[in-house]
Amino acid sequence: MSPTATPVSASRAASRSTDAVPLGERLRVTQLLRLAAIGLLLLCAVLADESLTPVVDGSPAPDFKDTAVAATLIYALVVALAEGLSRLLPGRKVLVFSVMLIVDGIWLAWASYLTGGVDSPVRYLVLLHLGAVSLLASYRTGLKLAMWHSLLVFGTYNAQLPPDGASEGVLPATSGVVGDAVEQGQELAVFITVLWLVAISTSALSAINERELRRRRGDLEALTDLAESLERAVDSSNIARSLLDSVIDTFGFPRGVVLAGPEGQLPVLASYGLDELTARRPGRPGRSAVVDEAHRTHSTLLVRSLDAESDPWLSSLLPDAENLVVVPLSAEGRPLGALVLEQSDLSGGRIQRRVVSGLERSASYAALALRNAWLLEQVQRLAATDGLTKIANRRTFEATLEREVARATRSAEHVSLVMVDIDHFKSLNDTHGHQAGDEVLRNVAAALAIECRDFDTPARYGGEEFAIVLPGCGPEEAMKIAERLRGSVAAAPSIVPITASAGVATFPGHAGDADTLVRAADDALYESKRAGRNRTTASQGVPPEAQVDALLRRAVYQRLGRLPAEETADDAAPAPRAPSTS
Ligand code: GH3
Ligand code: MG
Ligand code: MG
Repeated sequence: MSPTATPVSASRAASRSTDAVPLGERLRVTQLLRLAAIGLLLLCAVLADESLTPVVDGSPAPDFKDTAVAATLIYALVVALAEGLSRLLPGRKVLVFSVMLIVDGIWLAWASYLTGGVDSPVRYLVLLHLGAVSLLASYRTGLKLAMWHSLLVFGTYNAQLPPDGASEGVLPATSGVVGDAVEQGQELAVFITVLWLVAISTSALSAINERELRRRRGDLEALTDLAESLERAVDSSNIARSLLDSVIDTFGFPRGVVLAGPEGQLPVLASYGLDELTARRPGRPGRSAVVDEAHRTHSTLLVRSLDAESDPWLSSLLPDAENLVVVPLSAEGRPLGALVLEQSDLSGGRIQRRVVSGLERSASYAALALRNAWLLEQVQRLAATDGLTKIANRRTFEATLEREVARATRSAEHVSLVMVDIDHFKSLNDTHGHQAGDEVLRNVAAALAIECRDFDTPARYGGEEFAIVLPGCGPEEAMKIAERLRGSVAAAPSIVPITASAGVATFPGHAGDADTLVRAADDALYESKRAGRNRTTASQGVPPEAQVDALLRRAVYQRLGRLPAEETADDAAPAPRAPSTS
């Protein structure tokens, strides 16, 4: 293990992310709390009558308590009304909730006042209300509510103070305000202090919870977005791009690369923040010691700095990188590569567990998508190539020829076809065995592939016969190329010297569509065989009745919309050419 690499204990058991409490639930809990408060007050009124009866001028004044009970019943009615309203108008639930908080405050202040002011047990309900709302709604609502309760408590207290010269305030005193103003004032100050302590502590708690919930929800949404974009990504670079974009957007790393390949090498599939030259030409992919280490330990590594000697590939991609996070990418126990990110200078080499867990989850999604994409690529490759010679098979050849003929029709260009057949191959097989024959076929295919231009398609047509599609190539040039191809076949390593015969046909001169083009080239090949082998023959064009067939077929295809409408009759009815043999 690299001396600078530290494993981060992988939080594989991803913590379940919780969403913010849904509004409906919050409303339900506040309603339940209201019912509990109403029930509590009514219960006290029945069971502990004296606890709610204020002492005014030294004697109990039960009238106030009775008014408090009446106010509570009215309040209960308002609560029921609010419940009905929020069910009737679900879109206005938040408004009803906010208005009800104001109503709660008024009821609590009024009930407290009527049952003894600062001495009233209802004051505890004020604190309970404040704490519950701060935790259930938000810390901002909690602070606003603390302000509202303070105002109401202070207001009812002041309303009981008699103005100068008067014997009574706006409200009749229920808590001996008049008699012992200083003591009552102190109690009021203590209560308001406690109220604000409750408000600030629950709001702080609520703020922490809210922040964490928001972060978790953000991480979860990023993961969902990543899963969606991985579904849309068709190839490995798109998958890597989606992964890198997602983690950079969510966690904000200044530099990062996704290195992964099906064969153990680690080519750059996607990069972020690399200098322009490195991003465009990353160089020859190699292995990486820290990536190997991450796979060996099955964990994310924190790497303080890279050792250029043991990790030249990664060091060349991320020169002078410090505080790297190396997240292994693996699927079904097979290492595929890694997501490597550089932390910002501010991180101080530390990384939050939440970030590691987010990176690991994103990486595991992407690794699975990569594995699937590579499997699909492999299946498609296998379906398109010939098992023995590894060049295009007959299916691919036919599809390529159809495509090139359609393209040549649209752009009024030529497309030529060369059919090459090894001479007397049967006797080679009979003399030296099929394995030797197979080896010759492999060598011939490789020689044809090397001789072809980048945009030509050499294919194994069947047995010891090969077909080469030459887009944009006229009849004369095709004859020259066919001769070169035959030369390369003759020069291919073989247990005995071999020769080949070839037939060449060109669209639109010798045939009107892909099928007749094959027939024309095949006829020309047969002509080469007939004339003594080891030669190339140009097509004479297919017989007129076959051309007519082709014309009819194309007319039907045009009707069905399978061929472009701009295809002209001239293209379809070529003048037959005189045969020529090289
Ligand atoms: P010609 O010059 O007329 O083309 O003679 P030829 O012997 O090459 O042609 P023929 O069609 O008589 O024989 C083709 C031979 O190619 C017969 C068959 O055994 C051989 N062949 C076809 N496919 C394979 C293959 O995949 N491997 C090997 N080793 N031989 C094959
Ligand atoms: Mg042959
Ligand atoms: Mg043959």
